[in-house]
Amino acid sequence: MNGQCSCGEIRFEMTDSPLFNHACHCTNCQRQSGSAHALNAMIESSCVKVVSGTAEGIIMETGSGMGQTIYRCPSCKVGLWSTYAAFGDGFSFVRIGALENPGQYPPDINIFTKSKQPWVTLLDGIPAVPEFYDPKETWPAPALQRMQAVMDAAG
Ligand SMILES: [Zn+2]
Ligand SMILES: [Zn+2]
Repeated sequence: MNGQCSCGEIRFEMTDSPLFNHACHCTNCQRQSGSAHALNAMIESSCVKVVSGTAEGIIMETGSGMGQTIYRCPSCKVGLWSTYAAFGDGFSFVRIGALENPGQYPPDINIFTKSKQPWVTLLDGIPAVPEFYDPKETWPAPALQRMQAVMDAAG
């Protein structure tokens, strides 16, 4: 699955399917996206391959208070993926809207719905939590195994 920024300077690919897709309704994501929520595919950072260009990291606030680094195109400034201090550098959160076929990755969960815009209607059957959640209680086993492999490698 390929992705790119608006001007095309940064091109990247995701070399595996996402671990879990998050729709984040926190106020930081609303401000940073200028929209109702962010849509991020969580995946191993080793599966995000930059094909052309060099993204620049900018540290921003998060709902957890621990911060994230958003990787942006240095020319058009579009954010393409983030790493979160709460998860470590082994995991990246790819902006699903930057992928060539974003409709392939609907959210697996809605998070920080305590600050959801009142007009946003959530789909039945997709979990929604007021803040965050425990992946061990929510993710399918293969995704948990991939997450554990990254944490084992990080020591
Ligand atoms: Zn660009
Ligand atoms: Zn958020």
